[in-house]
Amino acid sequence: MSAAETPLAEPGWGSLEDAVARVLWDEEAIQKRVRELGAQIARDYQALLGSALGENPPLVVGIFRGAIVFLADLMRAMPIPLECDYVQLYSYGKGSEAGEIQLLRDLGTPAQGRHILLVEDIVDTGQTLHFLCEHLEARGAASLKICALIDKKPRRRVKIPLDYVGFLLEEDAFVVGYGLDYAERFRNLPYVAALKPEALAP
Ligand code: 5GP
Repeated sequence: MSAAETPLAEPGWGSLEDAVARVLWDEEAIQKRVRELGAQIARDYQALLGSALGENPPLVVGIFRGAIVFLADLMRAMPIPLECDYVQLYSYGKGSEAGEIQLLRDLGTPAQGRHILLVEDIVDTGQTLHFLCEHLEARGAASLKICALIDKKPRRRVKIPLDYVGFLLEEDAFVVGYGLDYAERFRNLPYVAALKPEALAP
């Protein structure tokens, strides 16, 4: 059963904060890092595309649903012409094991000739991004860059070149907040946190 299908161990959790064990990155730290990333990405696209930026602006693609919040903030931190879109994936993995990945929602915009920036919430084994990069490259994207809010390095199985990373997570912790869920909850926390073990179903 994937985390998304797992019911909360204690359905009676009153406030979201009751389930939080430790805040890893608070709202201020996230907003500061997102502004830095947006400015850096904008500078890099300006350098890469020059005057072509207006005719063929980067297509910023969020991987839903986890990247919803990050995508919204990151776009607004990029002071250049851009378009946005999203894809939605489903992983049939059991628990923390990655499994077969299915594309639930493809781009609404043709990828052919586009400079695509993939925006991901957290990179774990790397299977999701591996699947998506192959999919977009096969559709003729002109360039493909990846921006991940969190790089959970210890669990990487597939080598993925991450162009931009917000934060490194050196431990094997399951985190929630700022778009990241556990059983569809906690996405609306403005910070990223680890949950109390008793909030996670065994
Ligand atoms: P990967 O394909 O890299 O193994 O998994 C990436 C996806 O797994 C993320 O987009 C996210 O949906 C989910 N994921 C991996 N680690 C975590 C975590 O610590 N917390 C949450 N909420 N989701 C995670």
